[in-house]
Order: sequence, then C-alpha cells, then structure tokens
Amino acid sequence: MLNKFTIDDLNLTDKKILLRCDFNVPMKYNKIIDNKRIKEAIPTIEKLINSNSKLVICSHLGKPNAYDINLSLKPIAEELSNLLNKKIIFIDDSNVIGPITREKIKNIKSGEIILLENTRFRSEETKNIDEFSKELSNNFDIYINDAFGSSHRKHCSTYGVAKFIKETAIGYLIQKEINFLGKALESPSRPFVAILGGAKVSDKINVIENLLDKVDILIIGGGMAYTFFKAKGYNIGKSLLEEDKVEFARNVLEKADKKNIKLLLPIDNVVVKEFKEDANFKTTKSSEIQSDDIGVDIGEKTQKLFCDALKDAKTIILNGPMGVFEFENFSRGTFSIIKTLSELDAITIIGGGDSASAVNQFGFVNKMTHISTGGGASLEFLEGKELPGISIIKNKF
Ligand code: AMP
Repeated sequence: MLNKFTIDDLNLTDKKILLRCDFNVPMKYNKIIDNKRIKEAIPTIEKLINSNSKLVICSHLGKPNAYDINLSLKPIAEELSNLLNKKIIFIDDSNVIGPITREKIKNIKSGEIILLENTRFRSEETKNIDEFSKELSNNFDIYINDAFGSSHRKHCSTYGVAKFIKETAIGYLIQKEINFLGKALESPSRPFVAILGGAKVSDKINVIENLLDKVDILIIGGGMAYTFFKAKGYNIGKSLLEEDKVEFARNVLEKADKKNIKLLLPIDNVVVKEFKEDANFKTTKSSEIQSDDIGVDIGEKTQKLFCDALKDAKTIILNGPMGVFEFENFSRGTFSIIKTLSELDAITIIGGGDSASAVNQFGFVNKMTHISTGGGASLEFLEGKELPGISIIKNKF
C-alpha cells in the first residue's frame, strides 16, 4: 500500500511535504481577531518539523477569486512564527506558485517552513482544476490534509492535490475531529442528546434526519423551533418561519414519536414586538404567541426543561444557539444551556461557528470536551456525509 492514513504511519524525515491547513481566521483591518484555527494546527506542524521534514504550508483565507492584498496570508505567517517561535519563510506571490516560489520550494532545507500565499488568489482553486492541483503538488513527496474546516470542499488544495502526490495522510487536527464527532455518531456513551438551534431548519434538515436515527433525546430551540410550532398548529406571530419546511417538521415530530425519541421543543419564549437590541420583551407560552410577537429566545421554563433533560446525558452535541445570543437580553437561553454543559460529567461537543463563538463569548471554552473548528464541515459530518478532503486520502491505495 503506497498511502497511509495518518502522519504517524509515515516516514517524514527529509521528505518534502505539502501541508494544507485551515488558516481561514476572522480578520479585521488586516489583524487576526481569533487565532484558534492557527493554534489548532500547531501539533501537526510541530510533529512535521521535529521530524526534520521540508515543510510547505498552504491555506485559503476569505473568498477572493484573484489577488487581494487585504487577504494576504502575511499576517498569518507572523502569527504562526510567534506561536511556533520559529522563522516562517512567507512567499509574497500573487500567483501562489509562480517561478520564484517554485525555486524556493526546490531549495528548501530540512527543518524549514515555507508558507504559500492564499490559495484562492488562483481562480482555479475552488473549481478543482487539475492544472493548478498539478502545479501545487509538483515535486512533493507527501501531502497532508489538516484543514478540517475546508475538507467538505472539493478544491485543488483540499482534494485535487491528493491525486498527484504519492503519499498522503491526515493531520492531528482532522484526526481529533474525526475521533470526537465520529465516535459520537457511531458509538456514543448514552444517553446521547443533540441540541439544535440557530436560524434555519433548511440548513439542518440532513443533520436532523441523521441524528434521529442515533440520539436518545433531540432538543430543538432557536429560530428553527418556530417552524416546528407551526407544524403543531401554533400561532407563531412574526417569528422566523420556513413555510416550505413545515411539512418536514411535521414528519420529524411523527418520526420521533414512532421511534420513541424524546423530542423537546420550547414551552415558553422571550418575545418582542420589534427586532432590535433594546426592544421591550416578555415571556410567552409557546401556545400563546400573539400575531405581532417575534420569538427571540427560549424562556426560563424552557431553560429548565432543556437543562433537566441534559442532566444524565453522557454525550451531548450542541449545534446552533437557542436565541439571538448576539443581543445580551436574548442570550440567556443559550447561556444557560452552555453553562449547564460546562458543569456536566459528559462528553460535550460544540459544532458550528455560532455555537463556538457563543461558548467563547461566555467564557466556557476550556470546559467543553471538543469545539469543532469546522462550521460547514462539522455540519456535513453530522449529516453522515464523507468529507471529500478526508475520503480521498482514506480511499487512496
Ligand atoms: P445558524 O447559522 O443557522 O446556526 O444560526 C445562527 C443565528 O441564528 C444567530 O445569528 C442567531 O442570532 C440566530 N437566531 C437564533 N435564534 C433566533 C430567533 N429566535 N430569531 C432569529 N434569529 C435567531
């Protein structure tokens, strides 16, 4: 077998390695706001450097389709250098892999690290065009994918290159994500509870369907709960509604009932008349929402109902906030769930960008078992899909 699945299976010394990381971090005025994704890549990078390999790292940042100085990876190189306490050779190449870069890669010494420019400066990247994949993969001995947050995309640097480099593997971050998310789905310690929230049912249809076959309790809160209320025949006023998903919600309620899965919906809600941060609010029973009410958070009775249901759980996945947590007055529902998770003796897994930032905002990052680095990627994983950037490596032989 030419290709092994993890980096521990490979002989790395003196090998020229292309490592795909996910350095797509939030930026403001060319400054990194949150370096979590860079920090999460460190174990793999250290392993490769300590193995005395010749390391070339690539990543995308944002969604450019051509050169854009505001989305250069230069600030990432500086941050990475600080975190590793090591020189990073950053190549300022608008073509990503032009002649100068190729020359530098040709002459890289063991123990050195090169960071390439933003892969999305090349329009071919997101189209998975073989020519660019070949350019990127030229002369490398090993390709390692550790960009979990981008592994649901079939792009040149996450997928295409794996076809042209003989030895391939996944890095420690992807391994960690697969271990936590995969184990929760395949063989969870029970009771297994999923809490889904956020704005849209449509984004989470496949997740709901997949989890219905696996969980003991399914909790639905946030804006998506109102489509379920509609399916139950409640008045939901001016709350979020996806009319074309009411039938789906009805089927989910029926299916949960048939399968004996406890499906919990909010029993009371914080409602406002105007959607704004300082709006007056009150709490209303789910069956008594008025025509001009907008539901923006779960109420206190619901907080208790949901938190009680979590008490004995052994595995919990949270994906999506319980309300408009960005506004302080409507963040209490999300806060209470996250605080409860932080106190439980259970495996707690946070998926999705909004839930991760809520956990961060409330200061409970170190209290969770695992916070996934992938928004879209973790959703697709929870849908039960194979992520192309991982499966191409797994299936290669
Ligand atoms: P998602 O990206 O689908 O996970 O949704 C996250 C967003 O859902 C956050 O920005 C929340 O403000 C929003 N959200 C949660 N609950 C509600 C609600 N009841 N009404 C409107 N937006 C909500």
